[in-house]
Amino acid sequence: MNRLSLFFILISLLAGCGPRALEPDAPYVCERCDEWNEPHIPFRIHGNTWYVGTDGLSSILIETDAGLILLDGGLPQSAALIDANIRALGFDPLDIEAILVSHAHFDHAGGVAALQRLARANVYFSEAGQAALATGRLDEDDPQYVADSDEGRFPAIDNVTAVGDGEFVSVGSVNVQAQYTPGHTTGSVSWTWESCALNTCLDVVYADSLTAVSAEGFSFAASGAATRMVESAGKIADLPCDILLSPHPFFFGMYDKLERRDAGNPFVNSLACTFYAESALDWLERRLEAERM
Ligand SMILES: [Zn+2]
Repeated sequence: MNRLSLFFILISLLAGCGPRALEPDAPYVCERCDEWNEPHIPFRIHGNTWYVGTDGLSSILIETDAGLILLDGGLPQSAALIDANIRALGFDPLDIEAILVSHAHFDHAGGVAALQRLARANVYFSEAGQAALATGRLDEDDPQYVADSDEGRFPAIDNVTAVGDGEFVSVGSVNVQAQYTPGHTTGSVSWTWESCALNTCLDVVYADSLTAVSAEGFSFAASGAATRMVESAGKIADLPCDILLSPHPFFFGMYDKLERRDAGNPFVNSLACTFYAESALDWLERRLEAERM
């Protein structure tokens, strides 16, 4: 072996010892994917809670005294942007201990597999949604399910831990509570936690989508999804809620709120969860009307 090849062997050995880098999965192609995946500058929402998502798909980072918690991973192609946003804030994505998911669709769970591989984190979701994450396929009872179709497939996620309704995922002293809110999907979960800053502790709600969207032919009334949606909306309206966040920034008025940051913290609004629930019920009402026609 000459000196040069010894040198290259040494370099590649050292490279193997370096920090792990993100290995993204193939991008998902959809009509709105490019628009949703526009980059967004990460920012602090309040206390331990940060926005690290893209322009159209939320990812939330919670800082704890024993590592990081990440909520949702956007599209497969969002993972690299989320990774970069976390680093831009001065955090290390390898410190992610837990990844929590709102619902098992390609636009919120698509980037989770790559982020999990990077951080070697545990992924947490509901009992009803566990199988969809593990296979990367929509459940048959998903309103958007189409038989014999690969539409909506996303990278399968290993080792998903089921969390019961009302149970907690704890990292350090931060406890995030699972609130089952079925409707948009049967396995939908909203997640709640406390964020403290300057002796003020606020209740944060990451409310899952409550939109009555489906594939053709699905009936929210006949399937019982409408009843579940009404119950979930009531549950979200009743949660202790100072700050509302949700999987699409549009649904919690992120863009407007960012423009009003100099007048206090516009993300703090104790009525936001009630308004969110009301607009979900309005949407459902219109949908049920259309189903009756
Ligand atoms: Zn969805």
